[in-house]
Amino acid sequence: MTKNLRLGIDVGGTNASFGIVNSDGEILIKGSISSKGHQTPIVFVDELYKEILGKSGVDFFERIKSIGVGAPSGNFYTGNIEFAPNIEWEGIIPLAKLIEEKFLIPTKLTNDANAAAMGEMMFGAAKEMKDFIMVTLGTGVGSGFVANGKLIYGHDGFAGELGHVVAVRGGRACGCGRKGCLETYTSATGIVRTAYEFLEKKSMKSSLESLEKITSKDLFEAAQNGDLLALEIFNFTGEILGQTLADAAAITSPEAIILFGGLAQAGHYIFAPTQKYFEENLLMIYKNKINIIPSLLNENDAAILGAAAL
Ligand SMILES: [Zn+2]
Repeated sequence: MTKNLRLGIDVGGTNASFGIVNSDGEILIKGSISSKGHQTPIVFVDELYKEILGKSGVDFFERIKSIGVGAPSGNFYTGNIEFAPNIEWEGIIPLAKLIEEKFLIPTKLTNDANAAAMGEMMFGAAKEMKDFIMVTLGTGVGSGFVANGKLIYGHDGFAGELGHVVAVRGGRACGCGRKGCLETYTSATGIVRTAYEFLEKKSMKSSLESLEKITSKDLFEAAQNGDLLALEIFNFTGEILGQTLADAAAITSPEAIILFGGLAQAGHYIFAPTQKYFEENLLMIYKNKINIIPSLLNENDAAILGAAAL
């Protein structure tokens, strides 16, 4: 039997989803289990194994050539999850090793944004590219830098943390303990913080005032309805994102920057201001050369495809 399939596993704070993927990037079988409520990572891996074998059957399972895992704070070099804030096991978890020992299939692990970059390169918007930056705008902001066709891991495996580059000196408090990180402004939670700040100090009327609890989706809908404050919030967010991306471009000179995640789904409301302030802040030699484009991967499948692409 030819081993021509790959298993991608995306471990999140709530769920671990998996998919068996062929070389065209089609997900043949998929499913998920909870990533909560397991006493130890070993119990979790046992349950994952049972679920995947049950779903795939022996025939499919035996065709799996390799396994890729995307996880928060995942380290490609060690295969460990290291001090992830949203995972219930503390400290350092040798997840790749545990999976490899249980499944008896070679296993690689990396952080979720790096996995997304790999997925984009193999199956998405970066198919023909050798130099690009992947930026995920979700609950947090993650990034993966690809240079000369290779993902940059850095000497310790933690390269590419654009979300924790300081975008505003002395700015908003970040979960990492520092101030003004990009993540505190341009994640789905960051833009909501902006909304509350703007509502407090602006005299402008806005449909957002009537909402009890604002989400990034509410902001998108308000912008679609022409709400001026919502448009201003997107403009402010795009300004900070565009400025920081212009700085990032000076480091690896990418062909494109790909935006992915909840906030990227706001389409031109976020892309237009980001592109505008990006160009304004770029060094002359990069101007009008670098496109900021949306991911071509389906939001639900991207993490699995990315992990499989590892
Ligand atoms: Zn931070």
